[in-house]
Amino acid sequence: MTSSARTFELLERLIAFDTTSRYSNLGIIDWIEAELAPLEPALQRIPNSTGDKSNLWVRIGPDRPGGLILSGHTDVVPVDGQDWHTDPFTMTEKDNRFYGRGTADMKSFLALCLAFAPAFKAANLSQPVHFAFSYDEEVGCQGAPDMIHQIVDRGAAPGAVWVGEPTNWRVVSGHKGIMLTEVEITGKEAHSSLPHLGVSAIGEAVELLACLKTIQADLIAAAPKDTPFEPPYPTMTVGEISGGTATNILARQCKFLFDLRCPPGFEPEQLLAPFKAKARDIDRQLKDRFPECGVRVTHLTNVPSLAAVPDNPAERLARAMTGDNTLRAATFATEAGQFHRAGIPAVVCGPGSIDQAHKPNEFIETAEITKGVDIFSKLVRHLNA
Ligand SMILES: [Zn+2]
Repeated sequence: MTSSARTFELLERLIAFDTTSRYSNLGIIDWIEAELAPLEPALQRIPNSTGDKSNLWVRIGPDRPGGLILSGHTDVVPVDGQDWHTDPFTMTEKDNRFYGRGTADMKSFLALCLAFAPAFKAANLSQPVHFAFSYDEEVGCQGAPDMIHQIVDRGAAPGAVWVGEPTNWRVVSGHKGIMLTEVEITGKEAHSSLPHLGVSAIGEAVELLACLKTIQADLIAAAPKDTPFEPPYPTMTVGEISGGTATNILARQCKFLFDLRCPPGFEPEQLLAPFKAKARDIDRQLKDRFPECGVRVTHLTNVPSLAAVPDNPAERLARAMTGDNTLRAATFATEAGQFHRAGIPAVVCGPGSIDQAHKPNEFIETAEITKGVDIFSKLVRHLNA
């Protein structure tokens, strides 16, 4: 069987696992372990606190620091409410494309890793090749940090991490981070004709939203020049808001969520300092009037950005393997930022397009996978020094 056919077959199996982030991923982890078992690699699970999900860390080759990590997530985003023309968990080939949830984001890269595991095993590796397969990437990169700590604590930090998120095999050497924040305001109900007897949570929310708008306007005005990021400034958008029950009742609750996406060099905590000061002020004022009222600000996720650094060995390797020499940055966050924060050089480069990710009828061009087979074949030759 050719490497392409083997990769297609593995991808079909991977797609068949419904690994939407809300479900356990242990089924796919069991299956991957069984697939790799004949090669006798070092396998380690790094589970979540409840034990229903797990990262999988695989080492092929010598047990020593350095080497390469190939990194990917096992989870996918939901298909709920999307207009799919085929079963999202049955890979369907049509017009030189494979359709299915996860074909682009990012099970094709996992399939390539598995298809080439025997070649890595057979190669004369002076340094190890690791697979770092995570869970819960799609809900704020929550799985990978424990695995990264484990790898670093065990003294196995590699020289480079290759994160195979869909970039059409273009080398992405930097990306923005993402901080997701939830704001809950508790007011006090009263008749809307007697507003002095209560607090409208919505009214307080408006003040906080105005504060966010001012911060965003200042960031746009001070946008850095000469950056590969588009747009070049940190972006802040309020994606969800809810509150109130009727026009003639002061709203007791209002909740909104916003995301802040910072290029390298910006600290989200620092940018939000005026907002948090404002939230504390309002909280105090409300509590002075009614102790049950207040403002609660919770950061749900904070995935660091990936800074493009000169002489990044991961970037060098990806450029050598793909032949892509253009400097690019992405606005989507990935686990590469988390590896980078742990001091491990990282790059993002993988099959498929981010344009197809998270959408109904997600697909990957089969040519993206055959190109991947060429890139992985070259990688095996490169490591077999
Ligand atoms: Zn992804």
